[in-house]
This record gives sequence, C-alpha cells and structure tokens, in this order.
Amino acid sequence: MGIRPYNDLLPCEIASIERRLCLPSSGRWSAAHEQALSSFRRAQGLMDCSGMDEATSRALERIPLVSDVPIHELKIEEDSTWDTHVTEHFTWDEFRSPGDGLCVPDAYRPNIVALCRQLEIVRSVLGNRRVTIVSGWRSSWWNRRSGGSHLSPHLTGMAADFTVEGLHPSSVRRLMESLMECGELQDGGLGRMAQHTHYDLVHAHARFHG
Ligand SMILES: [Zn+2]
Repeated sequence: MGIRPYNDLLPCEIASIERRLCLPSSGRWSAAHEQALSSFRRAQGLMDCSGMDEATSRALERIPLVSDVPIHELKIEEDSTWDTHVTEHFTWDEFRSPGDGLCVPDAYRPNIVALCRQLEIVRSVLGNRRVTIVSGWRSSWWNRRSGGSHLSPHLTGMAADFTVEGLHPSSVRRLMESLMECGELQDGGLGRMAQHTHYDLVHAHARFHG
C-alpha cells in the first residue's frame, strides 16, 4: 500500500486512530495527531514517516479498543450518589487520570464500574479496610509520562493500582489469588508492586511483579 499522505486519510480512518491513541475526537488531522503517532511508532520500534504506512496501520489495529474488550453491562444504581460514586466505596474522583486530573471518559465508565464491583468484593473480604486507588484510569498523555505500556489496561479503565489499609501488597495479592481460584473474584491480571497492587480485568491469569 506504500505510504499514504495524512491528507488522504478518510474521516473514519482518522476517527479510528483517535480512538486507538485516545485522542480527543475531531475527525481532522492535526499536529497533535502526528505527534501522538510519532510517539506510538517510537514505542513500537517503527520507522517514523510523514504518512500512513502499512506497518503502522497494522500496529494500530492491534490496540484493543473499548469495543473489543468485554463491555460490562452498565446498571445505573438508583441512588442519588451516582454522580459522585462508582460503587458504594469508590468515587469517580479517585479514578481521574493522576497526572492531569482528567475525568474518566464516558466510553470507559462501564469498565470502571465493573472493576469497582470486584474491588468492593476485595474490600469486604478484607474486613472493610479502606482501599485507596493510587492510579485508576490514565489518559494516554499521563500513561506515556508514567512509563505505562501503550496497551495498558489503565487506558480503558480496566485496571486499578491500589493499596489496602494496614496490609502489605503481597498479602493482598495472596488473598486475591485465592478469591480468583475459588471463583469469588473475576480472574484478571494481578501485579504485586513494591507499594501497591495492580488488578486488571483484561489479562486473565497474568501474574507479574513490579
Ligand atoms: Zn497498574
């Protein structure tokens, strides 16, 4: 297919790039698009060029979109705290992108709800200890700044890094593993970092250390 000049990209192609790179949707190619694409290519080890080439478009297609990951049914609780609370013990403010304070985009809110329902289980099994979100949803800007993978489940609101009051991350992880084994907690990715626990709904059975 060679290299297509950006000016030749159709609005739907631009929209697809915007969704995959988490850019605000504008439908028109701009310097911000070019910059985001350049850093995406750098992260992928692809050659930068001033148009759309096949390797880049293939790499873009591999980015999971929110519509490709299981969408969790969004049930709006019939209570007046919906605006502030995701679930009983978690608020939308806690899930803002840590570095720039941006709110969780509507498209990813159902994922955060699904995640918090699981975190409520963890919280209650641990005797209702306070669970503090260190990093929930991340904007693509903050994800890059904080060194996150461009495929990070934090980008789609499918992951949270958190601490549990009075418990070491290794104890939290052990407990979560046993809950997953007995099917009480949705199996997902679990990471024990030095200071917190990472849990995501994307990488079933994945266990890693930070
Ligand atoms: Zn994480």
